[in-house]
Amino acid sequence: DNAQPKKPDWIRVKAPGGKGYADTAKIMRDNKLTTVCEEAGCPNVGECWSQGHATMMIMGEVCTRACTFCNIATGKPPEALDVFEPGRVADAVAKLGLNHVVITSVDRDDVEDGGAEHFAQTIRAIRKRSPETTIEILTPDFIRATPGSLEVVVAAKPDVFNHNLETVPGLYPEVRPGARYFHSLRLLQRVKELDPSMFTKSGIMVGLGEERQQVIQVMEDMRAADIDFLTIGQYLQPTPKHHRVDRFVHPDEFAAYEKAAYGKGFLMVSATPLTRSSYHAGDDFARLREA
Ligand code: SF4
Ligand code: SF4
Repeated sequence: DNAQPKKPDWIRVKAPGGKGYADTAKIMRDNKLTTVCEEAGCPNVGECWSQGHATMMIMGEVCTRACTFCNIATGKPPEALDVFEPGRVADAVAKLGLNHVVITSVDRDDVEDGGAEHFAQTIRAIRKRSPETTIEILTPDFIRATPGSLEVVVAAKPDVFNHNLETVPGLYPEVRPGARYFHSLRLLQRVKELDPSMFTKSGIMVGLGEERQQVIQVMEDMRAADIDFLTIGQYLQPTPKHHRVDRFVHPDEFAAYEKAAYGKGFLMVSATPLTRSSYHAGDDFARLREA
């Protein structure tokens, strides 16, 4: 039985709408850009888009992985990387006048460097057009990429390097096949070693079947890898074919995770049912820079 438990009240979200929403949608369409906000059916899209926050997805719409929580199409990507895409992303960021942008991608195991150079070019293109905009990237794990690929991305100097662990290690075979927990952890640690001034960030979803103690262990692993920012949100099942929701974690439990995480030394933590990796990322980052 793959049916999920009934959604509790704290999960209800507003339907998207309003002028800001329509403007964002138009700029994305005009620049032929894909957003995670739409592709992932993110519950915050109304709120984020009406405030000009969005997460753009580069390197196509087909992913070479098949994580069981994710609604992105999986298979062999039909096209090579689009050399004009970095420019279009930079154009959209400038038109939207974003203070902070989140750039993510599908996983491209079919590309030799995993798309590292494409990420680097996108960062540089945004920097050139919008030098004041802070840039957060949310990357694949580069597990099959040629050695040195991660270094290429770090050298382009994003402000925040985010890579999600997604779940506790015990659930990887079920939830994130093709990925390795310790590889992802090591990737983030390596970013910090390469550039100690760069903020590193990671996140997990809860409600997939993990135990509380396992969540605490993930936090400890992340701190041991020097990860600065943490996000924890409720997993929602995109379609009945996806991994089922094991339970809806109560807001009080999220609050307890947040408290525990700050106790372990994270600089910034967001742990609420509707927290997503990119939710309010810009506001939080601005606050931190002012502090
Ligand atoms: Fe988009 Fe992230 Fe906001 Fe969701 S939380 S709508 S993915 S920017
Ligand atoms: Fe989705 Fe990312 Fe997994 Fe691809 S690698 S299936 S885009 S979560």
